[in-house]
Amino acid sequence: MKLTTQMIKEFAATLGRPCLVGVANIERFKDAPRQMHPSNIFPECKSVISVIAPFPRGTYRGITEGTHWPNYTYYSYNRLNNLFRPRLTYALSCFIEDHGWEAVPLYPAVPERGGLHAPVLPGRPSREININVRIAAVAAGLGEMGWSKVFLTEKWGPRVRIGTILTDAELEPDPLMKPGTLCNRCMKCVRTCPGGAIPKAGEKPPVRITIDDQVYEWGDVSMGRCTLTHHGLNREVSPFLTKDFPTVDFKVRESRVSEELAYRMAYTLATGTWVASEEFPHGNIVDFYHQILGHVGYFAICGAQGCIRGCMDSLEKRHAIEQSHFATPVAPRPQWTLPPASQECSAGIAEGRCAELYRDPDPQAGKWA
Ligand code: SF4
Ligand code: SF4
Repeated sequence: MKLTTQMIKEFAATLGRPCLVGVANIERFKDAPRQMHPSNIFPECKSVISVIAPFPRGTYRGITEGTHWPNYTYYSYNRLNNLFRPRLTYALSCFIEDHGWEAVPLYPAVPERGGLHAPVLPGRPSREININVRIAAVAAGLGEMGWSKVFLTEKWGPRVRIGTILTDAELEPDPLMKPGTLCNRCMKCVRTCPGGAIPKAGEKPPVRITIDDQVYEWGDVSMGRCTLTHHGLNREVSPFLTKDFPTVDFKVRESRVSEELAYRMAYTLATGTWVASEEFPHGNIVDFYHQILGHVGYFAICGAQGCIRGCMDSLEKRHAIEQSHFATPVAPRPQWTLPPASQECSAGIAEGRCAELYRDPDPQAGKWA
């Protein structure tokens, strides 16, 4: 049955949610590594459809003030990726299948993990194939990759999450965005990333890919440092860590930890418990992480201070994106800071406190010390 790119876009416009749809032909993935190639999920795939959904700029308020964290995690991260946006992918997939073409709605997972697992049959690719949804969206002409590895769009800048659908329908591909259309290498993202995760130009070789005749490049971001910061193991951005882990200071900006190890550490702290004490009456290792994970299903602590907020500021100030019209600036006040670990002291059985603990506060009691 006839199905065109235009028909899919017109249907998307009827769904009553802000979104944009773009289409890549499978030929644009000819240089993709096997563990990220759409054909290794759906060999008959002819077209890769990307659908982007924006998130409200205002969800960063509260993090910008150091007063409220759940909004960004809920509306712009976890629920947007796992609930609101997949509704678009679901509806578009059903629409495509109504026309007699198969639609594979993809779950956005970590594409770099592919190749680490044994294939189900010799000669087959690894059994964990995941498409890089940002690269798919570049191939679908919806935007370009910023130096920060964040996907940038003409309308919303970096404020989007991305869905992907593979189909055997042969659809008209959208034109590619020329590299450098939005990202001018201002390096604001590098300067404002509190994890030191985004490399300076020249610090290490960039990631470089070719799609048709266009070459896209971006910084080889340290995902370990980013994950440590994003998930609250960086004192610079987490009053929760400083409260429940006083005196502890992971040297995040110098760390060479892997992304996976950073996740393991962060989730251990967020889900772990220990006996409650006078010093830590709640028993959870980091109380807020435990609470927000339970309520919202995720915990995004950094609030993308550099890679999204810093970048938005740059894009909006030079009117490089359509939505540059906001009355309140991205950062109306200087970034708040927390005291360094060297100024803290742990309250329980800690250095310098032992003698004090041997003294009974009751003057009538014994006098061991
Ligand atoms: S802040 Fe944005 S525009 Fe500037 S270099 Fe980083 S990604 Fe590019
Ligand atoms: S989420 Fe935070 S730590 Fe990670 S790259 Fe963005 S600004 Fe840097």
